[in-house]
Amino acid sequence: MSEIRVENLQKSFGSFNAVQNSNFVVEDGEFLALLGPSGCGKTTTLRMIAGLELPTSGQILLDGNDVTMRRARDRDIAFVFQLFALYPHMNVRKNMAYPLVNQGMPRGEITTRVEETAKLLQITHLLDRSVSGLAGGDRQRVALGRAIVRRPKCFLMDEPLGTLDTEFRDLMVRELRELHNRIGATTVYVTHDQLEAMSMADKIAIMSNGVIEQYGTPEEVYNRPATMFVADFVGSPPMNFIRFEGGLKKGDTSIAIDGQPVFVPEVREDIAPTRLVLGVRPEHIRFDDRSGLRGQVFETAYLGTSQIVAIDIGGTMIKARTSSARQLSSGDNVGLNFDGPKLSLFEEASGRAVRSVLYDGGLNG
Ligand code: ATP
Repeated sequence: MSEIRVENLQKSFGSFNAVQNSNFVVEDGEFLALLGPSGCGKTTTLRMIAGLELPTSGQILLDGNDVTMRRARDRDIAFVFQLFALYPHMNVRKNMAYPLVNQGMPRGEITTRVEETAKLLQITHLLDRSVSGLAGGDRQRVALGRAIVRRPKCFLMDEPLGTLDTEFRDLMVRELRELHNRIGATTVYVTHDQLEAMSMADKIAIMSNGVIEQYGTPEEVYNRPATMFVADFVGSPPMNFIRFEGGLKKGDTSIAIDGQPVFVPEVREDIAPTRLVLGVRPEHIRFDDRSGLRGQVFETAYLGTSQIVAIDIGGTMIKARTSSARQLSSGDNVGLNFDGPKLSLFEEASGRAVRSVLYDGGLNG
């Protein structure tokens, strides 16, 4: 059992708040991705969990024990850095054995552990090779092997795939997840890449300016974004935002955008006239010649089986994803429908989802 619990964690550097009041739990065997843009506080959070940085306030609990003030080496946590420094003068076997030699483990046991780990990572054939001649992906596997060989309670990974080229990255994303399924160690994984986070993690904590904007499963953060920041950061192309004035009334089934009706599930509560933002993902926009909501095709981007179509609706540019079989050209006048239950609604000033509205079956519910 190895649960990581972060409570009201805060870190300031002078007057600058790098991490503000973070709260999350990584359950035993769970894979959590800390996702966000550069400088949002991901690494600082990870370093505090590892014991490499002391929090300004708050607590870190491992299996219910307060380790906030405990040194890194007393936490039974393995940290995998982006540029993991392997010892170039040692071969793969010796690099992997190094942490165990340091622990004073008997030789026979070290050999068994290293060989088991190499098998798990499918690098047995590399064991006697020098690390300096290895390709990026293999080096990363050796680095992972060196972390796994200790069988720590938890893994902390800071952009471990950051230096790999795309082809290797995709492969390593799959391998890392498979590895996680096999060894089941509690993992916190820092990345700025939403695809990595979405495809690997059980839960995602999305950070912006030191604050966790949302914590949830990949499906939750994608389908029910808590803020406009999350809706924009997750998804490619991101969620479209369409601003409108005048609030909503209980019973409304449409919203006027540029004087044209957009049908929405029945609104259950009045919302004061404030500036609202309708959020719609590109794949939830359908082309329908009979629809009263009209727009003009601005441009199309061919992506093989699908295409991304930029459409101007009265000065608001939105992007729709549709089959590339649909013939569309710049300047075409098109009718559009939005998939009502998949819509989001935000308050522009705070950027937060308006959950109290409770669209029937809608995502902000
Ligand atoms: P990146 O992916 O670029 O590393 P990040 O989300 O991991 O981004 P952090 O490295 O946690 O971000 O940094 C958060 C903020 O804290 C940044 O503005 C950074 O400049 C600042 N910061 C981090 N460490 C220190 C430090 N030791 N002293 C002062 N400021 C720091």
